[in-house]
Amino acid sequence: MRDLFARYAGADLPLFVVGVLTSILGRVASLAPPLVLGVAIDATFNDDVAYTLPFVPAEFLPTTQAAEVWVSVGIIVAALAASVVLTWTNGAALSLFSNRIQHRIRVDSYEAMQRLDMAFFDDKQTGQVLAILNDDVRNLRMFLGTTVSSALQLVATVIGIAVILFSLNWQLALVTLVFVPALGVFTLWFMRSIRPRYRALRASVGDLNTRLENNLSGMEVIKTANAEAHETDRIHESSWQYYLRTWAVAKLEYLYQPSMDLLAGLAFAATFLIGGLWLVGAAPEPLSGTLRVGEFVTFLFMTQRFVDPLSGVGRIVNSYENARASAERVVGLVAQPVTVTDREDAIVRDRLEGAVEYDDVTFSYLPDRPVIRDFSFAAEPGDTVAFVGPTGAGKSTAAKLLLRLYDVDSGEVHVDGVDVRDLSLDSLRSNIGYVSQDVFLFDGTVAENVRYGSFDATDEELEDAVRLAEAHEFVVDLPDGYDTRVGERGVKLSGGQRQRLAIARAMLQDPAILVLDEATSAVDTETEALIQRGLARLTADRTTLVIAHRLSTVKTADLILVVDDGRIVERGTHEELLAVGGRYAALWGGQTEGSVGSFLGGE
Ligand code: ATP
Repeated sequence: MRDLFARYAGADLPLFVVGVLTSILGRVASLAPPLVLGVAIDATFNDDVAYTLPFVPAEFLPTTQAAEVWVSVGIIVAALAASVVLTWTNGAALSLFSNRIQHRIRVDSYEAMQRLDMAFFDDKQTGQVLAILNDDVRNLRMFLGTTVSSALQLVATVIGIAVILFSLNWQLALVTLVFVPALGVFTLWFMRSIRPRYRALRASVGDLNTRLENNLSGMEVIKTANAEAHETDRIHESSWQYYLRTWAVAKLEYLYQPSMDLLAGLAFAATFLIGGLWLVGAAPEPLSGTLRVGEFVTFLFMTQRFVDPLSGVGRIVNSYENARASAERVVGLVAQPVTVTDREDAIVRDRLEGAVEYDDVTFSYLPDRPVIRDFSFAAEPGDTVAFVGPTGAGKSTAAKLLLRLYDVDSGEVHVDGVDVRDLSLDSLRSNIGYVSQDVFLFDGTVAENVRYGSFDATDEELEDAVRLAEAHEFVVDLPDGYDTRVGERGVKLSGGQRQRLAIARAMLQDPAILVLDEATSAVDTETEALIQRGLARLTADRTTLVIAHRLSTVKTADLILVVDDGRIVERGTHEELLAVGGRYAALWGGQTEGSVGSFLGGE
């Protein structure tokens, strides 16, 4: 927590200092009225007591009783006015400070999150990450922004008033302060007890968000599976858990806060009792000396000012514990180890030639469950290599290793003779166009989506790419043409339309290497033939890795790899593989005869 404050508060420290100073000065200003009141009661209405004010030389003080009243009231009004100005400045400074901190923490944690490995996102639920970026960052803002300064103000006030109380009457001050250790012990107990509850609460915010987020994304499945009641039950369960955990926190809070008030009230009552008895001449042993009415009034007001903030310790501690649980989550996110990242001396290449080589590559998502094994092949710049094989064989995974969405466990993937782990991620990925199996479009216009990654492309370049992907005709038919909004994840387009836009996006990028993972699986054969024509032009002079179930689309590849259970089980050109008469030949036979399904895996 201290680290977070040091890291994010630095730039706006002046605002923080202004905030803290004004809050302390505001407190000081609020102490003036009771002090002056005490003096006024004892001096103005009492002939034998001189009118004195702390820090003010005698020659500046009034001499007549009427003037004393005027000066007293003047000081009180001035203190009130100062207090208003100080409170406003304090609020403005701290609000600016905390909102700026929140902005910085949020952007930073988003940036850190974005750098994390794909494996993190495979494991982590979106709702949890969202909860961190929203709720936890907000908790930190409240703590770093307001609570820290309240705590400083409280410490300053308590020490300041304790000093005044002692200087006014040390014996009575002891009576008041005897309650402070009890408040401390009780607060420590509260902190210990509430900490695990806050942790559980923060986690359950994430759980609930995850479920809501999942359900919103899967609304179509929920409706078609007629699962509304089932999902309502599950949301009920998550929400109930959240409620229970909030209640577990609240229960303790509501016990703590009034107990603190009670202890603080007891301190006040004890002071009143002992002071009152003293004033009427019935002071218990061993109190000695005299106590004047005005002094006693000041003392009581001061005691009130002393115990009020003490009961505020509850809010501070509460906010601290809440923020602590949030800080653990934010730091946990930012401090995740990242493996797929640039080496310090990463090689930067603006333009790659496109030679690709896999050398004895092994990879597993989960320990001891290899998905890619002994995977070796080489492609010259401009070659087209096709991966075919049964579903789940590891074709997409093999392609993702080229993009470094994951790093290999053993072996090496080379581009232009350089291990991809030695290239900068920017050099590598800007040279690879990737059309994935699940096309993702952002909520934006058609043009924005195609331009994604090639942000500087001109309108002509954009349209050329869209034409090559056989998408121009359907795009101009859309209500607003290129400016039509595609909806979240592109829901307002058909699967085939989305795929064509993804292909256009890759074409616009004009990369040295192209990875097409089932890029045309969602279009009809006629459109596919048209896209293939465009693709043929596009892939002619660049290295292409293509994954396809429809073998007609990979017939012309320079190298076809038949993948099964993570291994390359056959390799060669279409003709060579037909001549071998193995799995590929069998599959080809099956597909050209029009039979449905793949029997590559079924021996
Ligand atoms: P398809 O033809 O159906 O697209 P594929 O050959 O492309 O299949 P992959 O997507 O590479 O197959 O998956 C290979 C194996 O890895 C599968 O058994 C799958 O369950 C597993 N797998 C894929 N992605 C992950 C992941 N993120 N985490 C864990 N396992 C995964």
